[in-house]
Amino acid sequence: MEYEGVIGLEVHAELKTETKLFCGCSTKFGSPPNTQTCPVCLGLPGVLPVINEKALQFAVKVGLTVGSKISAFSKFDRKNYFYPDLPKNFQISQYDEPLCEGGALEFASDGELRKVGLIRVHLEEEAGKLIHFDDGESGVDFNRVGIPLLEIVSKPEIQTPDEAYDYLIGLKQLLQYLDVSDCNMEEGSLRCDANVSVRPKGSEKLWTQTEVKNMNSFSAVRRALAFEIERQIEVVESGGRVIRETRRWEPETQTTSPMRSKEEAHDYRYFPEPDLVPFVLEKDWIDKVRATIPELPIARKKRFMAEFGLSEYDAGVLTSQKDYADYFEECTRLYENYKADCNWVMGAVLRELNDRKITLDALPISPKMLTDMIRMIDEGKITSTIAKTVFAEMAQTGQSPEQVIKEKNLLPVTDTGEIEKMVEKVIAENPKPVEEFRGGKGKALGFLMGQVMRVAKGKADPQVVNRILIEKLKG
Ligand SMILES: [Zn+2]
Repeated sequence: MEYEGVIGLEVHAELKTETKLFCGCSTKFGSPPNTQTCPVCLGLPGVLPVINEKALQFAVKVGLTVGSKISAFSKFDRKNYFYPDLPKNFQISQYDEPLCEGGALEFASDGELRKVGLIRVHLEEEAGKLIHFDDGESGVDFNRVGIPLLEIVSKPEIQTPDEAYDYLIGLKQLLQYLDVSDCNMEEGSLRCDANVSVRPKGSEKLWTQTEVKNMNSFSAVRRALAFEIERQIEVVESGGRVIRETRRWEPETQTTSPMRSKEEAHDYRYFPEPDLVPFVLEKDWIDKVRATIPELPIARKKRFMAEFGLSEYDAGVLTSQKDYADYFEECTRLYENYKADCNWVMGAVLRELNDRKITLDALPISPKMLTDMIRMIDEGKITSTIAKTVFAEMAQTGQSPEQVIKEKNLLPVTDTGEIEKMVEKVIAENPKPVEEFRGGKGKALGFLMGQVMRVAKGKADPQVVNRILIEKLKG
């Protein structure tokens, strides 16, 4: 019998609000442990939580974008459990009345558009972070406690580990476009758990699922799912039964291992959060949130192809991140040579980001600086060789192209008298290639050209050099 995997993903994304979900503490990442806490997020007696409206806006913005039904009435619930990173011994979450229900995520997979249904999108608060020291002791950092967390739960409609990977890429892209989360997996602001089961190919029935945790990158998710599907098939084929349990991805052995039996909802003894009143979202408020939704990646890619004549590949790369797309689009607005704009952004700009491992906002070259430089190439003021030097210098110093050219004395040599002198020098110093050229070997010309350009430090117009060189050689 042939089997297929059935995958549902549960993604937690930290929302990038300035302050926490129920108090005014900062959400800044990387501060010294326990410096961003207060009686509310530490759960001290007598305190009352107050909802952060921005977090609510962000959650609804996501819900509207994926076509969820936004609940007119919603409330928070207490999810009770004990763990050292949870000072209140409960987490404020949403149980039976989530903010957003249904909808679907559309994403590119294997060259096609795929749609996977969503069960719910809800808001909850983050737990703290345990830190285990080398000497065997552990500490807890409560800075993270209470940061708003968006939980996005998909239906079990994902079919393969590759599709799960593409779903995550699509979701991350969407959250970044909406500017609601950094989605930084290294900093833990995006995490993913997976529900996995197998069933005979073509069957509609869901078999027992396991939940896989502890995957800290998208590729780890892909590998963990591939392993877990294979493992379950082996269990079933050898006459065994898959047990409902939570399993842990072990990066060292690239396997999953049992962690605990799967909790059921009743284990958490959910009940309505008594310190927060249920809330009703008014239509006007929702409409205001709707108005903040920008053009989304799939639509933007199509528009880039139609409006700027980009290839599907180029449009795909440029719209893969909102900041790339914004940067490129600003370039096209400043200078309408779309092809050149695209080539420079796709080439030099992205290479610079990659080489220096920086993000676009840390690059000191503004779209204005870049397009001023491209215009100078098109107007013949500088050669493309010089442009490379100008670009590198702008990337280091943040100076405008004009400043760089002036300070580095990069203006092209237009004085033909000066070029003639250089040509004569090269001819005098290279008797052998000169003789070869005169003897009919055209190849030697390329070498001599290169020598002149070297003497000119790339600043001479190649066409002028070529003309003078041939004149002198034939002379
Ligand atoms: Zn606080």
